[in-house]
Amino acid sequence: KNLNNDDIRKIIRDEDIKIVRVVFNDLVNVARARNIPVKKFTDEVLEQGMQYPSAMFSVDTAANFVLPAGAGFAGGYGSWMLKVDPATFTVVPWAKQTARVIADVFTLEGEPVSVYPRGILHNVLKEFEAEGYSTFGAAELEFYVFEKYAKDGYEPTWTGLQCYSEVKQSQVDEILYDLSVPMESVGIEVEAINTEYGPGQYEISMKPHKGLGQADAAFYYKTSAKELMHRRGLLATFMTKPLTGLSGSGAHFHHSLYELASGDNAFYDAADENGMSELFKHFIAGQLEHSAAICAFANPSINSYRRLRPYTFAPSNITWGFENRMCLIRVPEARGQGTRLENRMPGADCNPYLMMAAMYAAGLDGIRRKLPLTDPVHNEDAYSVEGSGSLPGSLPEALAALKADEALTKYLGADAVNAYIALKENEISRFNDHVTDWEIEEYADLF
Ligand code: GLU
Ligand code: MG
Ligand code: MG
Repeated sequence: KNLNNDDIRKIIRDEDIKIVRVVFNDLVNVARARNIPVKKFTDEVLEQGMQYPSAMFSVDTAANFVLPAGAGFAGGYGSWMLKVDPATFTVVPWAKQTARVIADVFTLEGEPVSVYPRGILHNVLKEFEAEGYSTFGAAELEFYVFEKYAKDGYEPTWTGLQCYSEVKQSQVDEILYDLSVPMESVGIEVEAINTEYGPGQYEISMKPHKGLGQADAAFYYKTSAKELMHRRGLLATFMTKPLTGLSGSGAHFHHSLYELASGDNAFYDAADENGMSELFKHFIAGQLEHSAAICAFANPSINSYRRLRPYTFAPSNITWGFENRMCLIRVPEARGQGTRLENRMPGADCNPYLMMAAMYAAGLDGIRRKLPLTDPVHNEDAYSVEGSGSLPGSLPEALAALKADEALTKYLGADAVNAYIALKENEISRFNDHVTDWEIEEYADLF
């Protein structure tokens, strides 16, 4: 649905909306918002935008930590402009007389802000349009829902290790209801929801969207799930590996390209022995080549790297194959309009805009350079083959690969890549200064 400003005004009147949240996320994937009483959500805000402190783009995951002097992206942390994207306006049915809308971020002079994740994805998608393609995809989100925090950790909402269990699912049917049905009113159609491998872990798959909509849906799903669970006194977490030794949460990304002119799936070629177009092969080759750098966005936290382990259904090495869930890239069986890849690298904690921007940019580089595709891993143990090497073992390794990746830096913008690396290096240095529970348990008595 493509709403315009008049549609928004009508919905506000008809639904008696009193509060509009203007939302966006930043480089470290925190959802930021300003709640605007509807009287202040004026024609001027709809048409020209509203000001916002740019400092929000200079903080790492600990919001009280501001980068050193000189790191403000708008000089002295000046103001930027939030301009709402009317296509993303939705009523939030579980919050009283509330609606929300995603904003794009501009300088006061009206230039798009180079460090805004949605803007970065938008730029990459425009390159595809120029080549004659539209993008289509969806992230499958895994996450945990916990009861409460006790001294020895969080309590899961269901126990046992029962993936896809009808009985376990029946015990949490109200949670499953909230995690699927209300999402439709905010534009997200959940296609399936089930319990996953970890205790208290869930997974949803959702209907794919075109263009920016694929990332907007993942963004809205995450914040909506957190809100709806909080209303039940529960915590939904998209932290990638909350429980030591148990299933991590991924955000597998299914995606494909369509020809703008014909509307046909550009990854499909009936004449090829595997039904794959040359374009599709170059696209996969590009993602394989840039995997280590993509990883810096697909697995953005220190914790993300605890998920990338062999024999967990998360990838650990750089491989591709047909219907092989041990591979980094799985090409599902569907052909024709359903021809697509599933990139299994992303952790649930990724910023969907940056992850998708990096994935698409890597694919585009493969297409433009006509990169040849390596052989697939057939029906065998993909964890034990060499493939094209291993994924980075830690966030610092992934950031080093990103620093060295000129093509990805060009597509995402040097400003954004440098700012991202600076923010993440702050996060890493705070972690490195911290004495962990594990060290105390391991060493305090021993030495
Ligand atoms: N939890 C696994 C991961 O981290 C995926 C399990 C599955 O195949 O759904 O990627
Ligand atoms: Mg799963
Ligand atoms: Mg999957």
